[in-house]
Amino acid sequence: MASFWADAEGPTLALTPLKDTHECEVAVVGGGFTGLSCAYHLAQAGVAVSLFEARQLASGASGQNGGQVLLGWPCDMTALAERWGDEVAVKLWRLSQSAVERVRRLVREEAISCQFRRTGHVDAAYSEADVEHLQREWRWLRDHGHETAQWWDADAIARRLGTSYYRGGLFDAEAYAFHPRQYAWGLARSALKRGAHLFGGTPIVRVRPSSPHYILETASGVRIHAQRLVWATNAYLPAAHWLRGRILPRYGAQIAVKLPRESALPLDLPTVADTTPEFHYFSRVLPDTIIFGGRMDTQARRRGEFSALVAQWRRMFPQVTDIQVTHQWTGRLGLSFDFMPHIVEYAPGWWVAGGYTGHGAALSTEFGALLATLASGGSISDDAAALLNLPWGHVSVKRHWALGPRATIRDMTHAVLLQRALGAW
Ligand SMILES: Cc1cc2nc3c(=O)[nH]c(=O)nc-3n(C[C@H](O)[C@H](O)[C@H](O)COP(=O)(O)OP(=O)(O)OC[C@H]3O[C@@H](n4cnc5c(N)ncnc54)[C@H](O)[C@@H]3O)c2cc1C
Repeated sequence: MASFWADAEGPTLALTPLKDTHECEVAVVGGGFTGLSCAYHLAQAGVAVSLFEARQLASGASGQNGGQVLLGWPCDMTALAERWGDEVAVKLWRLSQSAVERVRRLVREEAISCQFRRTGHVDAAYSEADVEHLQREWRWLRDHGHETAQWWDADAIARRLGTSYYRGGLFDAEAYAFHPRQYAWGLARSALKRGAHLFGGTPIVRVRPSSPHYILETASGVRIHAQRLVWATNAYLPAAHWLRGRILPRYGAQIAVKLPRESALPLDLPTVADTTPEFHYFSRVLPDTIIFGGRMDTQARRRGEFSALVAQWRRMFPQVTDIQVTHQWTGRLGLSFDFMPHIVEYAPGWWVAGGYTGHGAALSTEFGALLATLASGGSISDDAAALLNLPWGHVSVKRHWALGPRATIRDMTHAVLLQRALGAW
């Protein structure tokens, strides 16, 4: 079944595969938000950039996600402050603010029609421990001047979400939602208009340094000579084993739930993500439609089974039973072993980005812009430098495979702790 987004995306672009030898200043591999934003910003700076996408633009996470455009990082601010110090955490917080602001600006300036809207967002606490945890996060935000964050107690969250499933929640009015595929197509059009070359159906299967260039090879054997290279394939791991210990590909599942005419769910529903191990999230995308998602294990994905999500819906909204599931789909996300996305100069003039851990709708746009600055020799901000200085926590490739296809966040955390204890991280 097609995703809700793919069914309602409007006009797209037909990109052709690369057929002949090609030269460019910067080659971008991957046509999701990261790659598209990078190509757009490079073209805007007058750099000869070409983007190569294995399938179709936004066919990865960028076209399959929940459409929530949020501040912050997959990792809590309090965790970042504990780990790297308050000064670094503040810089990272500001960088996440730039990310949301950049999406807002791009949508406005490039007139991208993608249903971009301010929804507010709530991180909903499932247990008392989660309440404590989120309240700590709320205090950090408040102490650092983020006035739009509020605490909702159990009554307030029940009223605002139409479910008594949660014990409280951290609400932030400064949060947005969009139609991810329309946003991606808008970015692509703007990049093309500024002179970027975009190729679809062009998987890059080999990269060879050939000083002072890189030679990339497509699956059909066509060669690309590029002075510099940006690798933006996130959870689609290349043969480059280096990424395999840093990103764990996992699947998220979503259903589009059509509500009965009188559903009694609040119309001004904010976007929601909760603290359950399955990480449920939802948002209203049409007056009568809600997208409801969560993690999906590999077995369920193989069986094409979405019943766990429907069952969860019924637990949370027992008063809204007369629903119709109009769409169901999955998307591949890149979990980072340290719950932080990163940008790394993997080899001279070859940057790799990814590991958004399900929180990349805004960050990937910012990362694309940052990659463009790096690949065009521009100077980066202090806030961005704080990100680039963070080492990318990883587990050994052997352990990555040992975790197997059913690894959960908890397994990953254990793996990281073990690696740390062994002094390998
Ligand atoms: C189910 C789901 C829900 C999510 N919900 C949210 C949300 O609500 N809010 C939020 O902030 N984030 C969310 N995310 C995360 C967010 O979508 C991602 O962080 C973001 O889209 C990553 O963009 P990207 O461009 O780095 O990767 P992708 O969009 O995955 O793009 C990578 C591209 O690289 C291409 N590619 C791979 N290998 C090659 C190759 N060898 N040659 C050429 N091309 C190649 C792929 O085909 C793909 O198109 C969600 C993710 C998923 C999967």
